Amino acid sequence: MTLHFAPDAASLPVVSPSRLDRYVATRSFDRPTLVMDLDLVEAQYRALRRGLGRADIHYAVKANPARQVIARLVDLGSHFDAASKAEIALCLEEGAAPSDVSFGNTIKRASDIAWAWDQGITLFAADAEEELHKIAENAPGASVYIRLIVEVSPGDWPLSRKFGCDRDTALRLLDMANGLGLNPVGFSFHVGSQTRRADMWIPTLDIMAAVWAAAIDAGHDLTLLNIGGGFPAFHGEEIDTPTHYASKVMKLVEARFPNVPRIMAEPGRGMVAEAGVIVAEVMLVSRKSDRDLHRWVYLDIGRFSGLAETEGEAIRYAFETARDSEAMGPCILAGPSCDSADVLYEKRPVQLPLSLTSGDRVLIRNTGAYTSTYASVCFNGFPPLDVVVI
Ligand SMILES: *Cc1c(COP(=O)(O)O)cnc(C)c1O
Repeated sequence: MTLHFAPDAASLPVVSPSRLDRYVATRSFDRPTLVMDLDLVEAQYRALRRGLGRADIHYAVKANPARQVIARLVDLGSHFDAASKAEIALCLEEGAAPSDVSFGNTIKRASDIAWAWDQGITLFAADAEEELHKIAENAPGASVYIRLIVEVSPGDWPLSRKFGCDRDTALRLLDMANGLGLNPVGFSFHVGSQTRRADMWIPTLDIMAAVWAAAIDAGHDLTLLNIGGGFPAFHGEEIDTPTHYASKVMKLVEARFPNVPRIMAEPGRGMVAEAGVIVAEVMLVSRKSDRDLHRWVYLDIGRFSGLAETEGEAIRYAFETARDSEAMGPCILAGPSCDSADVLYEKRPVQLPLSLTSGDRVLIRNTGAYTSTYASVCFNGFPPLDVVVI
């Protein structure tokens, strides 16, 4: 199942409210709060599971590391992609088997590699010589996959330049891993987060297939293709259902990698975003001058309290209020902190009711991913985003 919330609730047919909506409607909150529905996480997992076929799902823990989310995913049989010692510890504490947890960050502290190896983690990512040395020293004999750089990322939230290495470097790293006594098993990439259409994967998959073929030609016996994340959430622009999207991606993958023994996928956003809603509040509505075309609407949540992905106005959240059946008008939306960068949407203003006023509740839909973890500890004295799991 999918939950595709439209920003204008008034235009939707009347349906009975979801468990999440009932919970939110019957409670008051004294600070911005992310409410996560575990049943919706489960529904997303099952939907992705159906579409991903034979691929292993390694949930990207960073998208939402709420303990109950991890526990539910363990129950469902998910595997995990962890980026740090703390994320690995969390997964193991919640019952994941070490063999189901990969250490997928290409930038790891040497002592954390040793700790992870000691815990039974055997699969590590790398994209640099120095990282392979660290792994060989602290996890001798471990399996490693090499992350390839994705030069042209089609995602709304690209991860392109920071991670991965180019093809020649990747081939050299496979050789080097062998020389260091490691077990080089394959490649990974990340097409870019919030890649809205499956066909946007094609250029990256074509490049990956060529690199894979070159590695086989060079004599490497590769067994693992890690296709990363990128599975989108609904933020107003139409997307496929998770099952449909994932099965389209898998069709593209299988056509290019027909004989790969093991495929891993690492959905983060696609697993949890649509399972959460943030309950926020209007703090102030104002105009800077009589001639000002747009109102400024200040919320109690901003760039530093969970909505970091509004950077560059990349991810466009849908906002919902109780007044959405009234006349709407554009506004610039900003957070509450005393930092001028704390503006959410200005280049493309947001439509909100003209009658909106301070104290009004604002729901921000499909915000279960990359919000709670992006909230600062206490910038300006604002507490981090509260999380309630139901
Ligand atoms: C963040 C991350 C993911 C998850 O990406 P989504 O776009 O949220 O699905 C997957 N793999 C790796 C290595 C990541 O760093």
